[in-house]
Amino acid sequence: MRFLAARLTGRVIRRAELRRPDLRFPFPDGLAARLTGARVLGFRRRGKYMLMRLADGASVLIHLGMSGRVLLSDTLPNAETPHEHLVIETEDGWRIGLVDPRRFGAIDLMPTAEEDRHRLLAGLGPEPLGPEFTPDALSAALKGKRTPIKAALLDQSVVAGLGNIYVCEALFRAGISPRRLAASVAGTRAGRLVPAIRATLQEAIAAGGSSLRDYVQPTGELGYFQHAWKVYGREGEACERCPGPPACRGIARLVQSGRSTFFCPRTQR
Ligand SMILES: [Zn+2]
Repeated sequence: MRFLAARLTGRVIRRAELRRPDLRFPFPDGLAARLTGARVLGFRRRGKYMLMRLADGASVLIHLGMSGRVLLSDTLPNAETPHEHLVIETEDGWRIGLVDPRRFGAIDLMPTAEEDRHRLLAGLGPEPLGPEFTPDALSAALKGKRTPIKAALLDQSVVAGLGNIYVCEALFRAGISPRRLAASVAGTRAGRLVPAIRATLQEAIAAGGSSLRDYVQPTGELGYFQHAWKVYGREGEACERCPGPPACRGIARLVQSGRSTFFCPRTQR
């Protein structure tokens, strides 16, 4: 989103083209015409969604699905990019393409004043880097939850926008087992988890990546994959907190709700 914001804020869209009628659901009627000639006021992120605000009072919701990415360039491509469903060109020569091979993404249009009432946004929990995400708020959201904490943190109604990798990393930092009952994460544990989540996100953002999948290099590559994670993808490797064999066998992996969880079985309780 940082790249998009830098290239689009204050700019007028010269041309918008939709190359298919839908992604996960149909595009709003007349979207391309609505975008053409519009001035972009700015961007807002909410959970995994991007909101592009236009000067005429409308907001365009953009959700990149699992396979989605944004291509940004200042030249026209020589050939059509496969699976590029939306193309926007600014009057100052930037070209933004939305690529989503599996088409799990979404684009929608709403009045800016009604963003938070949109059906995809209305049920979202607080932003992890926002002031509302406090240990008390997290404990309250987890109260009575009989699922593992790992699954609860991926539930967007508890906290918005956390992906699988960030949840693994934050639980490691907080020293909390991914299998721990969500409802039991309160008090000092919630007090450790909130700053651990924030620190994980802030470090990744500083390193130029984000699992929110809205941050792409000008080459179209996600900075995300270049980040050195502490546990994610490191099954069997030594953990930075442990002495190594024979005292411990390193980072373990388990599958929870169909997703891989990486953790230290010795220090995460
Ligand atoms: Zn360890």
